[in-house]
Amino acid sequence: MALIDPQTQEQPAMATIDQSPFDTAALAAGYRGDVLTPGHPDYDRARQAFNVTADQRPAAVAFPTDEDDVVALVAFARRQGLQLAAQATGHNALPLGDLSGTMLVKTTRMKGVEIDAAARIARVRAGAIWEDVTGPACALGLACLHGSSPDVGIVGYSLGGGMGWYARRFGMAANHVTAIELVTADGRLVRATHDHEPELFWALRGGGGNFGIVTALEFRLFPVPEVYAGALFFDWERAAEVLHAWHELLPGLPDEITSVGRLLQVPPMPEIPEPIGGRSFVVIEAAYLGTQVGGEALLAPLRALGPEIDTFAMLPPAGLAELHMDPRDPMPVISGHELLDELPGDAIDALLAVTGPGSGSPLVSVELRHTGGSLARPADHHGARDTLAGSLCLFALGVPFDEAGAVAVHGALAAVADAVAPYAAGCYLNFVEHECDTARAFDEDSWRRLTAVKAAYDPTDLFRGNHPVGARR
Ligand SMILES: Cc1cc2nc3c(=O)[nH]c(=O)nc-3n(C[C@H](O)[C@H](O)[C@H](O)COP(=O)(O)OP(=O)(O)OC[C@H]3O[C@@H](n4cnc5c(N)ncnc54)[C@H](O)[C@@H]3O)c2cc1C
Repeated sequence: MALIDPQTQEQPAMATIDQSPFDTAALAAGYRGDVLTPGHPDYDRARQAFNVTADQRPAAVAFPTDEDDVVALVAFARRQGLQLAAQATGHNALPLGDLSGTMLVKTTRMKGVEIDAAARIARVRAGAIWEDVTGPACALGLACLHGSSPDVGIVGYSLGGGMGWYARRFGMAANHVTAIELVTADGRLVRATHDHEPELFWALRGGGGNFGIVTALEFRLFPVPEVYAGALFFDWERAAEVLHAWHELLPGLPDEITSVGRLLQVPPMPEIPEPIGGRSFVVIEAAYLGTQVGGEALLAPLRALGPEIDTFAMLPPAGLAELHMDPRDPMPVISGHELLDELPGDAIDALLAVTGPGSGSPLVSVELRHTGGSLARPADHHGARDTLAGSLCLFALGVPFDEAGAVAVHGALAAVADAVAPYAAGCYLNFVEHECDTARAFDEDSWRRLTAVKAAYDPTDLFRGNHPVGARR
């Protein structure tokens, strides 16, 4: 059985390994995947996450092939006294720490997507990433509630909440998940829905990977043949003018448009061609669920400023994949995030003073995503991550290639946090890439309910989510 390379998804020839301090023979009996332990030549490659700043050193890395393999891993981990941490891509690996005493369960071999076009429901297996489903759904005239990156894992994104390009219209993706199949700590393969295991179903949709290993997920699709979407690029010396103009538009925008105001200092990289690679911009990105005429009217005040590059057009939903220009290759990322209340104009200036032209900021991207709309209204049958506080979601990141770079990025992120501190409204865990007080992301009732579900379904903390619910083992 071959191992899928976590970087390329290719399958280098490789045999099942047993160099472990565990009795992996006991696992092999009913297990068809691979398990790699430290010392194997491919262990380092197997343990690597998308964010290469994460130095995961798990006791073993398992690559299950199906639900039965996951059941076998759960039984094995319990016998061996190990914790289990599920991971698809490692886009949010940093908060997990070094993973000692933990078996990392990579779901990359559990691929597969089915679409029921009539019911407008997609079913994906645990290792599916967004681009596995956006194209096939788009071919059927349907859109998914994906986010900015085509290669983020659907399960990790949805268990954290999921805020995408249509978020102001449809709210969190987690509220449109209709079924979750997972293996729980007692070794059962459970199908959680509104009607079956409803508390567990509620907790999973926002409470993350703390309750079991998800093997499959089902979610709603939306009839969207086309979207008016794109980006306006302006020279970054115009950052104040453009960001203020965008910010002033926000209160008047309908829920059908979700937009981002962003400072971008693009490093010179072969995969980012001119005229964008190696330059700095202020960028407005948006997706509008409506007509070209309607979208043009909404964006007219920004267009009137004369962007250097204008990519807005009617696109099929799959065309949004590259809109945010998220990197596909693994890279070192250090980021900061905050949900923000309504900002006065001088808060934009305070943010620009530490990130914009003349600031010397090393941050590659500083973005404000417009939230509110359906993200602020409780949804029917919602999960634990129902709404987001505030009206903007700040996410800033740097890409350090050495220790000095990391120090500079940390310093710049601290300056950003100080600049927006008066408007801090909480946090959204999908965008938190470090250990944090998870309780801060929920209201008191939801937090109490989440910890109760954790105690009921995983009393020994077998499952190590990236953002824990309750005390770590
Ligand atoms: C470039 C980039 C762009 C992003 N854009 C957006 C965006 O637009 N909107 C948004 O909401 N978020 C966005 N995110 C955040 C992203 O949704 C989270 O990082 C999410 O956790 C990634 O899921 P993953 O499976 O790819 O990552 P992983 O690191 O593999 O998984 C993250 C966590 O999810 C849980 N998990 C994953 N698979 C399973 C499973 N099978 N069973 C149980 N638990 C599991 C685990 O707790 C795991 O630690 C972005 C992140 C990056 C790096």
